[in-house]
Amino acid sequence: MEFSSKLLEQAVNEMSQLPGIGKRTALRLVLHLLRQPKEQTLVLSNALQHMRNEVKFCKSCHNISDNELCEICSSHNRNTEIVCVVEDIRDVMAIENTSSFKGLYHVLGGKISPMDGIGPHDLNIDSLVKKVREGTVKELIFALSSTMEGDTTNFYIFKQIQDYNVFTSTIARGISVGDELEYADEITLGRSIVNRIPFETSLKL
Ligand SMILES: [Zn+2]
Repeated sequence: MEFSSKLLEQAVNEMSQLPGIGKRTALRLVLHLLRQPKEQTLVLSNALQHMRNEVKFCKSCHNISDNELCEICSSHNRNTEIVCVVEDIRDVMAIENTSSFKGLYHVLGGKISPMDGIGPHDLNIDSLVKKVREGTVKELIFALSSTMEGDTTNFYIFKQIQDYNVFTSTIARGISVGDELEYADEITLGRSIVNRIPFETSLKL
């Protein structure tokens, strides 16, 4: 793509770093901003910067939060002995929408993917293992998407914690292989948590 302006090119390049935004879409968005009053761009960039600077991650489950502990972790109505392991914050939102789960979460922040250069230490796994080691967790539910990366991540965590006294389960595969959790409908996702199966059984399937 040939640009008549270096400034335009730079803005398009930055915009196209966002997921799902190709160069053409980036150009369309940037040209849209150029047609808008300058203040509009300022409002947008301030909102992004404010969000980036102010947002916190719960120190226990790594969910996005306005406080040190998120609302779920600080609630008295949750079962603190069951922890549902999810890939990202969107999965917490999806599972919360089902109203089928009253335990706590642990947000990994992704899944192990050597192809993308994401190893176990890039994820919030150590803090999960520490929680299990401390003995307060009785059951871990693996609720990652059933992709190869999801399975690898489950297995890696399972290996880390199998010597501790914790029951591991995985959500029932009402969710078809490869499906991302956030796209599952609420009833299917709710059922798959209620009908979860022991993790070791899932390895034999
Ligand atoms: Zn939390």
